[in-house]
Amino acid sequence: MFQRLAAFPGRRRAVAPLAAAARCVSSGSVDITAPLNFWAGKRRTCPEEGSKERVYEPATGRVLCHLDSCGAVEVNQAVKSAKSAFDQWSKLSGMERARIMIEAAHIVEARREEIAEMEVVNNGKSITEARMDVDSARLCIEYYAGMASILAGQHIQLPGGSFAYTRREPLGVCVGIGAWNYPFMIASWKSAPALACGNSMVFKPSPVTPVTAVLLAEIYAKAGAPEGLLNVVQGGQETGSLLCHHPDVAKVSFTGSVPTGQKIMEMASKGVKPVTLELGGKSPLLIFQDSDLENAVRGALMANFLSQGQVCSNGTRVYVQRSILPEFVKEVVKRTKAIQIGDPMLESTRMGALVSRPHLDKVLSFVDQAKKEGAKVLCGGEPFVPSDPKLKGGYYMTPCVLGDCTDDMTCVKEEIFGPVMSVLSFETEEEVLLRANDTTMGLAAGVFTRDVSRAHRVVEHLKAGSCFINNYNITPVEVPFGGFKMSGIGRENGQVTIEHYTQLKTVFVEMGDVDSLF
Ligand code: NAD
Repeated sequence: MFQRLAAFPGRRRAVAPLAAAARCVSSGSVDITAPLNFWAGKRRTCPEEGSKERVYEPATGRVLCHLDSCGAVEVNQAVKSAKSAFDQWSKLSGMERARIMIEAAHIVEARREEIAEMEVVNNGKSITEARMDVDSARLCIEYYAGMASILAGQHIQLPGGSFAYTRREPLGVCVGIGAWNYPFMIASWKSAPALACGNSMVFKPSPVTPVTAVLLAEIYAKAGAPEGLLNVVQGGQETGSLLCHHPDVAKVSFTGSVPTGQKIMEMASKGVKPVTLELGGKSPLLIFQDSDLENAVRGALMANFLSQGQVCSNGTRVYVQRSILPEFVKEVVKRTKAIQIGDPMLESTRMGALVSRPHLDKVLSFVDQAKKEGAKVLCGGEPFVPSDPKLKGGYYMTPCVLGDCTDDMTCVKEEIFGPVMSVLSFETEEEVLLRANDTTMGLAAGVFTRDVSRAHRVVEHLKAGSCFINNYNITPVEVPFGGFKMSGIGRENGQVTIEHYTQLKTVFVEMGDVDSLF
């Protein structure tokens, strides 16, 4: 997902020196020794025996650190600290909350390089993309800081001078559970609106990428937030389910796969807790023959290869109108072959490592399956070994374009979550709309055409929560993001998210006598 940044001169702070610990891929000197759990204002260890799992550096394949998973004792402590922070935080005015959030955004800006490098180390994405993620996180905090000060209810005039008013009240302790593809950004996208509305949060990152969320918690503490406002607990599904079942948790906001989302919803239903679910996708990108071909090709690459293809909203089913198929494919393949793969810490790298060895193997097996089912590999789809000996154990592959795809193939039906684009052809608008919508998912969709009427007509019929006309994977924080159908419930970003982190209280005020029937 791609945050296009406006070119305005924001308040700039001196950038902190790079953290030695994070400069790793090239130097081979990662040392992440501080505990990664954080509650009541401090980093914490979990004493439980046997709960330690390895965390890897995708670029090199070596062990980065060990995950200190939280059990019931630690989850209770984190929720307790969030509860006590909520008592203080929810009593502040919106302006007071905004002031602390703005300070947090400044610290994120000052530590941009360090956070981005940490993200590269733990996730494997290129430093260029990691910086964009940190910028998106900062913008999100700034945006919701602005929103905190304008939260307001409604006044409703009633007969006889009586009236009612509504209050937008926070929910309490919210839980955020994140996926591994945008670790710092997901933590920010969830916590910023939650905190702006007066809630506190316990966030659990993916156990695959536990490293950067704790930086955000520290930043809020440093910005002057009450102890326990944003807490981080580490662990996998057991820790996650302890959080979802916790009686003092008011809401769960989850980003991850559809099967886990279904479990989260089930767990939350026991306490009738609201959920936000940002789940998977298998999104279509429709390219009509009247498109600006150069932009359509750029859009298709952005729709498939950001973050090594590990993006929920990716437009992996690329439907191209038959008359321009040869020209489109030629250009897409040429540019895909030119993508610079390798050390994610280098400025020139455009594609780093996939997040883990099992995930790389899974993506490669999708390519094998596609070949068996009759798709033609037009380029890529192979493991890649960089020439730098330090990177030999990393999880790299060449970005892949599959041609001759048909709607019934596994590569067209299932979310691969890797750098694999499936190209299909179509004849008519009617036909392609039917095929594009023939999925249980509905996260995103895109259309390239110069015909403005067609663009809006097509978008009206596409069953997806985030639609793009003549672009793809742009996610400004001011714009709501989320899915239709099995891709999710609720929205992140934009003004509407305030509704997902508040509850409405209506207050009736009688100005006359009680008109009693009894
Ligand atoms: P996942 O579902 O395996 O895990 C996501 C998170 O849920 C992790 O933190 C995990 O530890 C936790 N979890 C797993 N089981 C749990 C349980 N029973 N109870 C509570 N928590 C539990 O997903 P992933 O592999 O980390 O991420 C990839 C998926 O996420 C893809 O399907 C992708 O499309 C989706 N995703 C969606 C969005 C979006 O905004 N729609 C964004 C990023 C990723």
